[in-house]
Amino acid sequence: MPTSHALSSALLEQLEAVLGRSHIIRGDELRQRPISHWNAKPTEALALLRPTTTEQVSDVLRFCHQFDQPVVTQGGRTGCAQGAEALPNELILSLERMTAIESIDTVGGTVTVQAGAILEVVQQAVLEHQWCFPLDLGARGSCTIGGNVATNAGGINVLRYGMMRQLLLGLEAVLADGTVVSSMNQMLKNNSGFDLKQLFVGTEGCLGVVTRAVLRLYPKPLSCQSALVALERFEDVAELLNIAQRSLAGTLSAYEVMWGDYFHRVTEPGGHRPPLSRDYPYYVMLEAEGADPHRDDERFQRLMEQALEDGLIVDAVLPQSESERRQLWEIRENFEALYQQGPTYLYDISLPITHMPAYVDDVKRALATRWPSAPCYVIGHIADGNLHLFITPPNDGNDHHAEADQDVYQSLLAYGGAVSAEHGIGFEKKPWLGYSRSATEMELMRQLKRSLDPKSLLNPGRVFDLT
Ligand code: ZN
Repeated sequence: MPTSHALSSALLEQLEAVLGRSHIIRGDELRQRPISHWNAKPTEALALLRPTTTEQVSDVLRFCHQFDQPVVTQGGRTGCAQGAEALPNELILSLERMTAIESIDTVGGTVTVQAGAILEVVQQAVLEHQWCFPLDLGARGSCTIGGNVATNAGGINVLRYGMMRQLLLGLEAVLADGTVVSSMNQMLKNNSGFDLKQLFVGTEGCLGVVTRAVLRLYPKPLSCQSALVALERFEDVAELLNIAQRSLAGTLSAYEVMWGDYFHRVTEPGGHRPPLSRDYPYYVMLEAEGADPHRDDERFQRLMEQALEDGLIVDAVLPQSESERRQLWEIRENFEALYQQGPTYLYDISLPITHMPAYVDDVKRALATRWPSAPCYVIGHIADGNLHLFITPPNDGNDHHAEADQDVYQSLLAYGGAVSAEHGIGFEKKPWLGYSRSATEMELMRQLKRSLDPKSLLNPGRVFDLT
């Protein structure tokens, strides 16, 4: 019996000629790699390929196309929707050796990188030249620019700088048949025909493999003001956001809301040290970045004092050093504690701010009916309309994902929300995409897929099924 998951020896020979044997990882060496940041099981795939240039990626894909070989692209494997998890019949195209920061234009404010460059490395590299790449998220130390493009990554600074789409000026991508599309634009304005790079932003590697990118930079901020504040009502959370955006003259860069039960859970003994009482209904970590340290500090202080005086906030802590600031951020970014009671499902839905409290109530009510003691913790980048929910179903050995999904997504329909705000669809949310997209939209997505990847070899089965 021929095994269905074997790599064609003729294809392997071609790949070895392109990459050299040492950059084709197979067997036990491949199984030593965990599937992803979220899944420690061994990687099962035909092989993992490690090209270093766009030309090599092009050669690899051309041969895979000839042999009808499905390929999944991997960056930092921190994605939250299982989109980069390999199947046993797939080849993995890893960009882990394509990490070059090729050039920094300190006049025009752009950086050109290979797609495997780690986000934090890019952030640090441009800071040395007094520039800032403002995309920022918890996975900054592992995620790659290519993955950020493929998922149109968001994170904590979106309210000021936009998502990856707004920070991307140009890119180079390789199509399923090996064709290289080089669209390395460096200008903010370029309306010369279709903006082809958008085909590869947020399309989760289904239409091509991003190999290089030109990113937009902002001047390095000269001041930073942060605070962790406590609030009694969600209406106050929403009002403080608006007041902060107006009174800080557009310098507000982060506004991260934590529902009280989340804060309470992650600051339990053994967790983060609580800098405020643990029993308020809402907490917000807010931050502003400006260019005039003295004035910026003054303005921020004034906002805090006024908000306290008006009763908008009921408690606040302002970090006095960078390490204190980092400790505050840890409360929001390090939520390992939530995963200690068994399998926990993470969601990234979006909906208008005004509907958030009612929506969260709906979900909690539905969950309480299903599993009376299952926790549901909520945090959010609310200025982006984005909430994250962490749901831990009963730890009884059964997979409850579909039931939790049902409660989270069904409740969303009434508010016109989206099943994914920033993580993408991957395999995980594929059954629910129809909740956010019409049949016509789904069909147009399929048409694009068929036209750019007619054999459906790139990240097949992710986002939607072709039939
Ligand atoms: Zn997020």
